[in-house]
Amino acid sequence: MGKGFYEVPVAVNEPVKDYAPGSPERKAVLEAYKELYNANIDVPMYINGQEVRTGDTATMSPPHEHQHSLGTYHRATQANVQSAIDGALEARKAWSQMPWEQRAGIFLRAAELIAGPYRAKINAATMLAQSKTIYQAEIDSACELIDFLRFNVQFMTEIYAEQPESTSGAWNRLEYRPLEGFIYAITPFNFTAIAGNLPASAALMGNVVLWKPSDSQIFSAKVIIDVFREAGVPDGVINVVYGDPVMITNTVLESPDFSGLHFTGSTHVFKSLWKQIGENIFKYKTYPRIVGETGGKDFIVAHKSANSKQVSTAISRGAFEFQGQKCSAASRCYIPQSLWPAVKEEVIADVKSFKIGSPEDMSNFITAVIHEGSFDKLASYIDAAKADADAEIIVGGNYDKSKGYFIEPTVIVTSNPKYTTMCTELFGPVVTIFVYEDDAWEETLHLVDETGEYALTGAVFSEDRYALDQAVKILENAAGNFYINDKPTGAVVGQQPFGGARGSGTNDKAGSKLNLYRWISPRMVKETFVSPTDYRYPFLG
Ligand code: NAD
Repeated sequence: MGKGFYEVPVAVNEPVKDYAPGSPERKAVLEAYKELYNANIDVPMYINGQEVRTGDTATMSPPHEHQHSLGTYHRATQANVQSAIDGALEARKAWSQMPWEQRAGIFLRAAELIAGPYRAKINAATMLAQSKTIYQAEIDSACELIDFLRFNVQFMTEIYAEQPESTSGAWNRLEYRPLEGFIYAITPFNFTAIAGNLPASAALMGNVVLWKPSDSQIFSAKVIIDVFREAGVPDGVINVVYGDPVMITNTVLESPDFSGLHFTGSTHVFKSLWKQIGENIFKYKTYPRIVGETGGKDFIVAHKSANSKQVSTAISRGAFEFQGQKCSAASRCYIPQSLWPAVKEEVIADVKSFKIGSPEDMSNFITAVIHEGSFDKLASYIDAAKADADAEIIVGGNYDKSKGYFIEPTVIVTSNPKYTTMCTELFGPVVTIFVYEDDAWEETLHLVDETGEYALTGAVFSEDRYALDQAVKILENAAGNFYINDKPTGAVVGQQPFGGARGSGTNDKAGSKLNLYRWISPRMVKETFVSPTDYRYPFLG
């Protein structure tokens, strides 16, 4: 910035539209849904500004209607990945020198494009690709992505304003350089907003990026790419490749210029990537930054003083919205004996009232799970629970993949607090409940803390402040996002920075300044105005 200390628009959260019957937004999204459903698009890769088609294609289908083709995408060869790396490094020469206000302008424009002309399209694409209801699509692909873009621009300027003290004889300047090399962004299927944010946050800070979206999200990723291009992201700054994750990753991690991993996905994949980076460490010009937000086994623990209806609503929403495929979804619950009859009755009534089907029918609360692999895995855990003596299914338990990958929302009650579905991340509409003796509160909090490898989100319900305080203390390390008398899902950018520790990730808090710090390498510049001309200090006299 040469000619002014510019201020960016103050970031505000994008208001969530309600899509009530008769509303203009409902009409627009249903029209966009129909159009995209029939469009049969062919999605190229984007490498150095070029659309690249290899002819090695795969089909995209809605999870709720797997026989229908939405179109195809092209899978990368190793040469494509290499040319994406080369293109990124070439683009870096100009992009890393681009003044920050120009970068800000591009991503603020992207936010406004999503808020306006692309809103219906990005929501409809997310409903089709990931089987989200309109409300789940709106809070993700429209509002959260807009918020990420707006707030990150503001956070960037706050970081740039952080400067050291200077004395009268010298001027100390901190320059927040992008990393030297390129960033590898790998994104999960479940949030269109995360898919957009992982490459965009690094690019905003002046980095160049190679982005590999999840196969199951490419249909909605295409809308993000269109928005970035229209907003003016220059060629080569964000390169997009699809296909075999192992080949792509092996090629990327061989590059001496690999300087950072921005990952969201499962714990096992992240740990294997970290290991591979470690094994390659002598190849790199710089120590790569490694950021990974990964799996969860998120809990709700209720105290005997809790309000049963609040607890059951938190379970019904927290465990089952988006078919339990949020990393923050409640999947293990601890309910005191005295509260259990009421919570049980209410949860069963809620689950029985859920309508299941395509998101195009907006009265459906539950749609399909993402793909056949996920469906089969969930079905096998449900079958095991039917057979196991220490588990009982109190509602749900059916599944059907004839048309779409539909799993009935399922509640398992177990007498074994370490039962497999209390520990393993299933990532679907299955929640497991352990009922404890009322007077075992403290012991139960320790059980919550010591069960499983994760520490992403968790919620405590209580009307008793002493009990709440105990939970806050004992569960200090059990969740990176901790909720009091609220469900453990639904973090909002700028309000609840998101991320967990232990097996759940590096906790770099997406949607906060903390994350942006990972994509910069500060340079300290000290300028002395009148330089000394004699080495002798006074004490030598
Ligand atoms: P996933 O790990 O299967 O895939 C994530 C990405 O990694 C995809 O792009 C995939 O193609 C890629 N990938 C898979 N194997 C790879 C390999 N061997 N090398 C390199 N890349 C590879 O996860 P998913 O099913 O897409 O998403 C669900 C997971 O993500 C859950 O575990 C969930 O908890 C987690 N998640 C976490 C957060 C968070 O903020 N903590 C947010 C969203 C999702």
